[in-house]
Formats: sequence, C-alpha cells, structure tokens
Amino acid sequence: MSTIFDRILDGELPCHRVFENDHVLAFMDIAPISAGHTLVIPKERKARLHELSDDAAAELGRALPRIARAVCKVSGSEDYNVLQNNGAPAHQAVFHVHFHIIPRPTANVGLGIDWNPIEAPDPAEYAEKLRAAIAEDAA
Ligand code: AMP
Repeated sequence: MSTIFDRILDGELPCHRVFENDHVLAFMDIAPISAGHTLVIPKERKARLHELSDDAAAELGRALPRIARAVCKVSGSEDYNVLQNNGAPAHQAVFHVHFHIIPRPTANVGLGIDWNPIEAPDPAEYAEKLRAAIAEDAA
C-alpha cells in the first residue's frame, strides 16, 4: 500500500529536505511538536522496523546520529527524543518506517512520555525466548 512518504520519495509531494543519499531521506515533519522535529526514512518501502533489510537498517543507523547532530546544532538543544512507531496502537499513522528526531529543549516542550512500569513476566525466561528467536532469525 502506497503511503504519503512514498509520494514524497517519488517527488509527487514536496518536503523540506534535510538530508538525502541513495538509501535515506530526512525532512521536516509537517506538524512538528517542537522546533526542529525531523523525520528520517529509509528509501526501502517497508511499514515496520522489523521488516527492513539489514542493509537498509545499517544505512539508517549511519544516518541517524549525523542528522541528530545537525538537529542539536541548529535547535540549540542537546536533549531530544528519537521516536519510532510501529502499528496503529503504537501511534503509527504513516505506514512507511520513519524515525522522529524531536528536540526536547525544556521538560515541557517536545515529546511527553507516559511511562508506566508493569508487573513483568520472568525476565530470565523472557530473555531466553528472545535469544532463541534471534538465533532462529539469524539461521
Ligand atoms: P507517526 O505517528 O509516527 O506515523 O508519525 C507520522 C508523522 O508524519 C507525523 O508526525 C506527521 O506530522 C508526519 N507527516 C505526515 N505527512 C507529512 C508530510 N507530507 N510531510 C512531512 N511530515 C508528514
């Protein structure tokens, strides 16, 4: 399914471009929650982070700190959140992988987070299951 970010990648919609190479595009968010709110997307067209190829993921990983450095420099804030939503319940509205870089110049500007620790399942058991899943994925 085509998204609004596909249309930006295809040049059908404009954006305020911040960075572009063969694998990654970064541009200003159209509805920023703080000054400098920037989106970083892979050119690979996948909805969720875990669907990305290793190469696309590596390229995103290379670009993110570089773009974050620019956001820090220009916004004047060394404090920021990187947000990456997957799925509608997780607040994803555009189903093309994207990272938000959101300056947090003060405690009440930028991304507010409601962080509610739960009564978690046994972490040792959980970690074992995760190790097995990662091993299976790598095989
Ligand atoms: P998310 O909730 O993580 O899917 O966030 C999607 C983000 O895309 C929101 O912050 C929107 O403001 C942003 N957005 C939607 N359309 C555009 C657009 N045409 N140009 C730039 N940002 C956009």
